[in-house]
Amino acid sequence: MTDFLIGLSEEDATFLMRIIIGFVVCLGAIIGSFLNVCIYRIPMNQSVSRPRSHCFSCGKTILWYHNIPVLTWFILRGKCANCKAPISFRYPAIEAFTAILFLAVFQMWGNPGLFGLNTLSIPELIPFFWLFVASTVVNVMIDIDHRILLDRISIGGTLLTFVVAVAFPALHGSDVWYDGLLRSFCGALTGFGVGFVIAFLGERIFLQDAFGFGDVKWMMLFGALFGITALFWILLLSSFLGLLMGGGVLIYNRFKGYSDEQAVAIPFGPALGVTALAWLFWSNRMMRGFASVRDWVLLHDDLFMMTFIPLLLLMSGWLVFRIRRIRHYNREMMAMDEAETSLMPISDSEPTNENAHEHD
Ligand SMILES: [Zn+2]
Repeated sequence: MTDFLIGLSEEDATFLMRIIIGFVVCLGAIIGSFLNVCIYRIPMNQSVSRPRSHCFSCGKTILWYHNIPVLTWFILRGKCANCKAPISFRYPAIEAFTAILFLAVFQMWGNPGLFGLNTLSIPELIPFFWLFVASTVVNVMIDIDHRILLDRISIGGTLLTFVVAVAFPALHGSDVWYDGLLRSFCGALTGFGVGFVIAFLGERIFLQDAFGFGDVKWMMLFGALFGITALFWILLLSSFLGLLMGGGVLIYNRFKGYSDEQAVAIPFGPALGVTALAWLFWSNRMMRGFASVRDWVLLHDDLFMMTFIPLLLLMSGWLVFRIRRIRHYNREMMAMDEAETSLMPISDSEPTNENAHEHD
């Protein structure tokens, strides 16, 4: 793997590796800091480079020595240096998380086998996967905040993946460029097709765009990047994760006596993004896990059939029933509102959703 370390003494090799790891972590944290800016500004169509970062409360530009990723937040105890307004813990959390993701991508090549990480055979793909994990963080956070998945990530990412598949066919485990490109292209096509069918069915089952067109385009990128087989597992796992998240919020709301609307509005993007990251790092380990679960199920199929599957069906059915009822109720309320406003003498025409082209 790490050919450049050959010829060095063991001490020198360890030392050099530590320096590189330190560099990777710092790079990840700095990129994470930039991602915070992207997450905040891109949905508002603001430039990500100008103006420089400033406090949301007092508007003062943040000095460079107050803009060190992760550390500054702890040194200033999560407050603006100028006006002491609180700064969300989300900023250092995203910086630290990006640093961890960058390190994990590097270790797939630098220290394969660590924590069961997948192996990356060629170092040239490291920057490409850094870009992928960074874009996934941005998409997940923007989806949580605004329910938007960015076209420049899904469509731009797919096109970039085609180029990378041509330059490094090893991405899809092949040696020749046209084979790499073909596999990438078929993956993208399948991702888009399967995603489209799910979006269509989801709208009918949940009476809402549970799996929107943004998710469809993101599936296209996952297909181009990971191949056709991966799509099946990513869909299965993200649906399961989405079900747990949706069900969890519905139960939480019931205990707290909150309205269920928030739960219904949960975007699917985070479940999809988290699953794609898990696939990037641990697809081998996950496949082995599936195999042992399958063996266990085959061995205990009576027990399994009688407990787990009815439970899963019951949970899914309950979730679908709840969401459909809430959606139905909201639609009736909206229809009543519209009927009322149309009776008024002067009615302003409502502006249509501006982000519709990118959100969907
Ligand atoms: Zn301030």
